[in-house]
Amino acid sequence: MARYSNLVKPRSPQLLHLQVLRSRQLSPHWMRVTLGGGEIDRFEAMGFDQWFRIFLPLGGDEGLERIPAKANKLFGYLKYLRIPEGVRPVMRNYTVRAFRPATAEAGAEIDVDFVLHGTGPTAGPASRWAAAAEPGESVVIIDEGLGFNPARGTARVVLVADETGAPAVAGVCASLPASATGIVLIEAPSAEDVLPVDAPAGVEVRWLVRDAQTPGSLALAALQELPVETAGTHYFIVGEQSLPTSARRHLVAGGVDKSVISFVGYWRVGAASPAPKSQQAQQGAQA
Ligand SMILES: Cc1cc2nc3c(=O)[nH]c(=O)nc-3n(C[C@H](O)[C@H](O)[C@H](O)COP(=O)(O)OP(=O)(O)OC[C@H]3O[C@@H](n4cnc5c(N)ncnc54)[C@H](O)[C@@H]3O)c2cc1C
Repeated sequence: MARYSNLVKPRSPQLLHLQVLRSRQLSPHWMRVTLGGGEIDRFEAMGFDQWFRIFLPLGGDEGLERIPAKANKLFGYLKYLRIPEGVRPVMRNYTVRAFRPATAEAGAEIDVDFVLHGTGPTAGPASRWAAAAEPGESVVIIDEGLGFNPARGTARVVLVADETGAPAVAGVCASLPASATGIVLIEAPSAEDVLPVDAPAGVEVRWLVRDAQTPGSLALAALQELPVETAGTHYFIVGEQSLPTSARRHLVAGGVDKSVISFVGYWRVGAASPAPKSQQAQQGAQA
């Protein structure tokens, strides 16, 4: 289960039916899927690392029509589980890499950057879906708001992520004031997966190209090399669960107040996607 710090709730946490408009492979491990159409006009962009649950119709579109309104909350999730297997859409968590409002010529669009992890049966269903997504396919999303709480500070930031957090870090950089300063540490699974990140001039973006290391370990090591900033800095750490957990422990031990560390565990080695809190509650009840 992903562990979250202090989230900023979305303004409109409702089911939105959207379509795939197009997809483009950016690099060996990145697939950008652009969503729009359908109910996109009801999407309220919040900037920063805005994220959402996405429901993928791996058992056909019928399952999308049966998703309960609050499938990301306890009772809604229990109803979602009543959709028969084989029809039930797969639910995963992804980030708004970019949002473009509607223009006179085109509707609004959301870019979602999917990490392609593994191939064939070893890849997760979301990664497999993104690798083959076709224009016109339907999906449903529910907005979840922000993990980076701007109230904790935007003047000076240290942003740390493995590749799954690259869209979030890029979104945060795009939303910071031009006067912001800081350091960004992002891991890439290969040199070709290093992508441009627009950041304020005072924010240094360092990509760390992994070789055979465990995801998150390079970013953690790089953070540990930096002087710990105990005042005026907002830390944001996302990625494989052990990265935010270890990084937060390191920072707190160095004297950083927990209230200026925003963190989210995005995935776990060897475990399918983190379930929502509701599922954790259900599992706890069954234990
Ligand atoms: C708030 C939030 C925002 C996120 N935003 C993004 C985003 O914008 N882009 C993005 O790519 N991911 C993002 N993630 C992470 C993504 O949800 C997980 O990687 C998810 O597990 C992928 O689902 P899947 O169906 O492909 O694999 P799953 O079925 O969940 O997992 C199958 C297997 O693959 C492994 N696995 C899962 N992800 C990876 C990975 N990245 N590398 C290597 N092995 C992996 C698991 O450990 C498991 O063994 C986000 C997560 C959260 C919580």
